[in-house]
Amino acid sequence: MKSDKERLLRRQNHFVDFYTKSIHSNCGVVGIYNHPEAAILTYYGLHALQHRGQEAAGIVSCEYLEDKKKHHFNVHKGSGLVLDVFSDELILTEDLKGNSAIGHNRYSTTGASGKRNNIQPFKVNYKDGNLALSHNGNLTNTNYLRNKLQEEGTIFQTTTDSEIILHLIAKSKEKSIEDKLLDAFSQVEGAYSVCILTDDKLIAVRDQYGVRPFVMGTLEDSYIFASETTALDIISADYIRDVEPGEMIIIDKDVIKTKQPKSIIFKKAEKYKHCIFEYIYFSRPDSQIFEEKVDKVRRNIGKNLSIEHPPPKKDNPENDEEKKVIVINVPDSSNTATLGYFNQAIKDNKNLKHEIGLIRSHYVGRTFIQPGQDNRKLKVKVKFNIVKGVLNNRKVVIVDDSIVRGNTLKLLVELIKKANPKEIHLRITSPPIVSPCYYGMDFPSKEELIANQHNGSIEEIRKYLGVDSLGYLSLDKLLDAVPYTEEKTDYCTACFSGKYPISIDDVKNKEKENFED
Ligand code: SF4
Repeated sequence: MKSDKERLLRRQNHFVDFYTKSIHSNCGVVGIYNHPEAAILTYYGLHALQHRGQEAAGIVSCEYLEDKKKHHFNVHKGSGLVLDVFSDELILTEDLKGNSAIGHNRYSTTGASGKRNNIQPFKVNYKDGNLALSHNGNLTNTNYLRNKLQEEGTIFQTTTDSEIILHLIAKSKEKSIEDKLLDAFSQVEGAYSVCILTDDKLIAVRDQYGVRPFVMGTLEDSYIFASETTALDIISADYIRDVEPGEMIIIDKDVIKTKQPKSIIFKKAEKYKHCIFEYIYFSRPDSQIFEEKVDKVRRNIGKNLSIEHPPPKKDNPENDEEKKVIVINVPDSSNTATLGYFNQAIKDNKNLKHEIGLIRSHYVGRTFIQPGQDNRKLKVKVKFNIVKGVLNNRKVVIVDDSIVRGNTLKLLVELIKKANPKEIHLRITSPPIVSPCYYGMDFPSKEELIANQHNGSIEEIRKYLGVDSLGYLSLDKLLDAVPYTEEKTDYCTACFSGKYPISIDDVKNKEKENFED
């Protein structure tokens, strides 16, 4: 017999399976300082960042114990969605007391996914007090640092890269926490947006390339840090600004009085390297990241795709009897880009309609697989249904954000064919994905990516997917759709170009070692 806990975990894992594509955003982080309901606000923040990680969630709060005259860190974390992990409200009101807190949503990009030890925030008690950390991103010199620390006698509790940062801070010989952090972050490389909680401070640190988004806001006399502005919106906090790439911001009681956050720019990059995929897929369209609204950029992306790969015309544009060509989105991730695509396309092609041809279930639970049944096919059917009357006898343009392995999209096309459309035309709002991400997104291996199969031929991929035409947005047109400033803004495009802006030698050496083992 399975325990209730095992049953819950199994249900959650099934939900996780349905919730996202086969690329997963890594994590979401939240931190709040100086609010009597810090844990509750952190919970809502995590809820608004659920799309950034559905595997596990956790909160650490800092409470001052009057009787003992010292600070105490309370922790609650578990596997599953935020709603499940914090299903009992007493966890937030009784267990996680305190005026400051940090939280984390996890999708594992390093470390074994099932290990409870790997769930963040991590908390340690070291000679100067308590320390807790939430990290979004991936370090790229993990193997070097881990080996070095282990040789010096460090014992690791987890298999994640994030724990390395805690050890570097705790081992630093510097005096103040600010200097300890500067010492630690001078040694790490890669992508990181990090919230650190100490007994009396909340500190935000971001890598010099600003790979992952990171914002700062206020609510009355409180300060908040979060991965995206949706976490500020849900608690009615005001956005102040982004945490700058290479910046450390310290919030403590003096800042509450003076309203002047302490800022230290500790590393400078010639140009930022924001993750361009955040604009395509990972971030929510109602967020603002990298100082721009995702909705606006995503519409631009759809617009450029429409210019490069317009929809087909009717067989006879003059024939009013012939039904219009329809443009549909794959809910929910391509909704906004589809609007951009359609609004541009209709300027040249009046015989066009935007329609809802696919309905996505938001209440997907587990599936019961019978022997011999195709699991993936069932999952697509449970997640999506077709609106037959809309699709029947039409030329249909499907707008989707990316193709990873292509298996799910192929099944979706098969499902749409059941409505007997005249033709199916696929439009993708990103270039072909050719390389994995080492900066905090979980991708399949290079070999598994469909763009590296079928001899890399778009025509062969089209045939495999079973559509009448296939158009990917080019990298040039993608770069043309995102905000750009000559002085500082640039993007990581490595998964489309194979050009990694931050060295991945350490990761590759480890991969080679494992292969040779
Ligand atoms: S490799 Fe792709 S997903 Fe990873 S940071 Fe670069 S653009 Fe983003």
